[in-house]
Amino acid sequence: MVTLRVGLGYDIHPLVRGRKLVLGGVLIPFEQGLLGHSDGDVVCHALMDSLLGACGLPDIGSLFPPDDPAWKDARSLDLLGRVVQDIRGRGWNIGNVDIMLIAEKPKIAPFVGQIRENLSQTLGVHKTQVGFKVTTNEGLGSIGRGEGMCCFAVSLLVQEGP
Ligand code: MG
Repeated sequence: MVTLRVGLGYDIHPLVRGRKLVLGGVLIPFEQGLLGHSDGDVVCHALMDSLLGACGLPDIGSLFPPDDPAWKDARSLDLLGRVVQDIRGRGWNIGNVDIMLIAEKPKIAPFVGQIRENLSQTLGVHKTQVGFKVTTNEGLGSIGRGEGMCCFAVSLLVQEGP
């Protein structure tokens, strides 16, 4: 018997000067970075929430509270690794994940390969199981004005049992 579960994640962070831009654990050269208690990695945050949601677990805000100094400047790719360990411990395997990042600037295309590599390694799955796309907001709204970035993610989890 095979049980399938799907989960949805979403996150948004403001872009500010004086912060590093980290997406999917990749440091991307840009004059602004995402503001957050951790490294602000909006990709890892949305992905974690989709994995947790598929298991019916509380979201990353409850797992890694922003007022807990333990997670200050935490590397979100490491937090993703913790979430993956947790869900695997509950008997879930990752079928696939798909991610949609919405960012006006900078051009993310040159870094997509490395982001997928990082994510597939941390998830412990093949690169073909990790979808990652980037689009702009066509200049519309706060994301379109480059005031921040947002990200959507879905995850499919698989459990095989008797
Ligand atoms: Mg976040």
